[in-house]
Amino acid sequence: MKIYAVLGDPIGHSMSPVMHNAAFEALGRGMSDRYHAFNVRLPDLRDAIRGAKALGFGGLNLTIPLKEEALKYVDPDPIAARIGAVNTIDFTGGIRGYNTDGIGALRALKDAGVAVADQTIMIIGAGGAARAIAFQFAYSGGKVIIANRTVDRAEKLARDVGLGLFELKKTPSIKSIGLGEVKSEIADTDILINATSVGMHPNIDAMPVSPDLLRPELVVFDIVYNPRCTKLLSEARKRGAITIDGVQMLVHQGAEAFFIWTGREPPVDVMREAVIRALQ
Ligand code: NAP
Repeated sequence: MKIYAVLGDPIGHSMSPVMHNAAFEALGRGMSDRYHAFNVRLPDLRDAIRGAKALGFGGLNLTIPLKEEALKYVDPDPIAARIGAVNTIDFTGGIRGYNTDGIGALRALKDAGVAVADQTIMIIGAGGAARAIAFQFAYSGGKVIIANRTVDRAEKLARDVGLGLFELKKTPSIKSIGLGEVKSEIADTDILINATSVGMHPNIDAMPVSPDLLRPELVVFDIVYNPRCTKLLSEARKRGAITIDGVQMLVHQGAEAFFIWTGREPPVDVMREAVIRALQ
């Protein structure tokens, strides 16, 4: 029997228990493997991670506000180290830290038939999720533009990504702008990503960019998943754009964690259905 868990503060909103328990059940492991949510305060994180290891947990996920602090207590993979945040811990052979948010976003686009290589991708936001997506997409050959309300934060992210990784064959393409420059840059953008919390419940009428800037040739991806159809996505659909919602990323980042822990192919469709049911 293995226990898995998500740690965060607060944690009541997390979709991860529903998603992972559905996956264990679908693979016939529902009686032996269970996934729980624990409220862990930042000062207790080190003890919580070591305690989970000592108790023989299979693995952990981390959410707000623990992802950055967790980096201190794990052996991170190179991308998680550069992002500066960990959302998945695996205890096989040590305490290994990963960040699956970027790969989750990439697979959400892939499912919709959208490739990122050589595409111009504008990411609104420079917080934790935006960082993971920016690294993943720039390292996958996308031309990334970071637009953030706090410009210093966008500049720092662009600098960090621009340092590259030794495995990369090409220098990553990334630049930063303020929200005031979105209007002039969006005409050349292929993929627009909202990686801010703008539009999230309860402020469901808010949008990160003006609807006038949306056009049919854009792919619009909103990582907010509550509500599933944000105002940004509904305005983009009205204008004929391809849209991708945050549930797709949520499921794929969870599926990657599931694979890291179990080595088994995750039942992605079952996980998606469980999340959609829980959100309803
Ligand atoms: P975070 O680290 O707190 O970053 C928040 C970002 O939103 C910052 O760039 C912030 O800009 C920007 N922002 C907040 N309010 C704004 C406003 N009124 N106008 C303009 N920009 C604003 O949060 P996070 O962890 O990156 O999460 C961001 C969102 O993504 C949340 O809604 C979260 O639920 C969602 N998310 C989804 C998934 C998924 O799997 N689908 C995964 C992770 C996160 P400043 O820098 O200027 O403050």
